[in-house]
Amino acid sequence: MPGFNDAHIHPTPLYDEMSPWGTIDCSPAATPTIDALVARLREKAAVTPRGQWVRGGSYQDTKLGRHPTRDDLDRVSTEHPVLIGHSSGHVAACNSLALKAAGIDADAADPKGGRFDRDADGRPNGVLRESAVGIVKGAGPERPTPDTATWIKALHRRFDDYLAAGITSIQHAGTSLATVERYRRAQAARRQVRIYAMLRSGEIDELEQIIADHGRGDDWLQLGGIKTFQGNSLSGQTCWLSKPYDNRPDYYGIPPSRSLESLIDRISGIHEAGLQACIHANGDREIAMVLDAYEEVLARSPRPDHRHRIEHASVCPDELVARIKELGIVLAPHSYIWEHGDKMEAYGSWRWDFMHPNGSALAAGVAIAGNSDSPVSAAVPMLRIQSMVTRTSAEGKVYGASQRLSVLDAIRAWTLGSAYASHQDHRKGSLTPGKLADFVVLAADPRTTPPDALRHIDVELTIVGGEVVYRQEGSTLPAPVGRPLSPDAAAPASR
Ligand SMILES: [Zn+2]
Repeated sequence: MPGFNDAHIHPTPLYDEMSPWGTIDCSPAATPTIDALVARLREKAAVTPRGQWVRGGSYQDTKLGRHPTRDDLDRVSTEHPVLIGHSSGHVAACNSLALKAAGIDADAADPKGGRFDRDADGRPNGVLRESAVGIVKGAGPERPTPDTATWIKALHRRFDDYLAAGITSIQHAGTSLATVERYRRAQAARRQVRIYAMLRSGEIDELEQIIADHGRGDDWLQLGGIKTFQGNSLSGQTCWLSKPYDNRPDYYGIPPSRSLESLIDRISGIHEAGLQACIHANGDREIAMVLDAYEEVLARSPRPDHRHRIEHASVCPDELVARIKELGIVLAPHSYIWEHGDKMEAYGSWRWDFMHPNGSALAAGVAIAGNSDSPVSAAVPMLRIQSMVTRTSAEGKVYGASQRLSVLDAIRAWTLGSAYASHQDHRKGSLTPGKLADFVVLAADPRTTPPDALRHIDVELTIVGGEVVYRQEGSTLPAPVGRPLSPDAAAPASR
């Protein structure tokens, strides 16, 4: 099969948890209860100099029963600021010292575009939403940073995990030119996965200059996308909805802090630079706003085949899907019901058949790109494909069966769909003469495997550019014979 292409991912170097730059894994598998989470963070505090940050990530409130609070995290330490991220990346919990370092006292007002959860008496309880997370993250002592060699070594470890799961290309959703430079060095030391970079919107001018001077890069590392946020989180229950959340009749989520006018300016800047806009939006009200902006920009300045994107588009009724089709927008919807189906409970079962709209988008002729949004859900394509095919959570509950895909459509989304989403479908995404020789050999045929067992299909070989870059232990498959038809370096940019 063609290699998998993860169209929206946040790669981070894989450090040892107890090293100075490591964060503690607070996922349900690692720390199933709040007591276990506190105990594990305490171990990290014990090896961390007093006053320095203790950080964790990937906790799930739904699996723990609630969000950890400052009182829980004060049990970790009162001498270290402690901050742990929610699996959504849009919510976090911190201890009292971290709140104090950020100057948040009992009567602090909510910041624009964010919220402090509060005790019964109104005091911030340590749970931070959206812009409130950044306020605490940016306060306190500076975090130690590893040198480039350490960073690259840890990045190679992360990429080895991707290769073992059959991922041959990734699209980094929101990175910086400095990180792109480090990717260049990491690839010079060792070639693993191909990378498409979506830079943050603040770097447009610099990016335009780089593209004017050096082009968009090559098949290993390519520039072209600009990622920006116009909305909040589905699994963190902060995205902005037209009708209230099902569990709170007075709550519509947190509105995006940027106005429509300013969004139009932002998208227009990206569009006029000839770049690809990749706009994060989850709630139906956020998606509608992004579509209003795209409509305005494209009416003023039409461009065929722009392939501008909406990242996630999680709560997306048919009338929005129709507008997406009309405007030629590409979607990168979530495929994470296995891990996060339970987060959909807050939205009410009446919404499930138009959430994570992989099925309705495909039926309407909208291009969809397979992605994990890792670390939000695991960067394991066969698990993600199972999730798209079954719409079933790990607990066995089905969420929105009408959005199910056939296994071949899900595989297509994860290969050709993702390649299309980064203007690279002429180079990869199918096994076609003239394309790059990026492919995987699976240990079983997904077409004849029961849908609930797709995640158990192992990847036996992963081949990038004709070279074996991963071989499963014990596999006796021969390496491919021959060489790629076209040399990488001569690859034309797609537009
Ligand atoms: Zn993301």
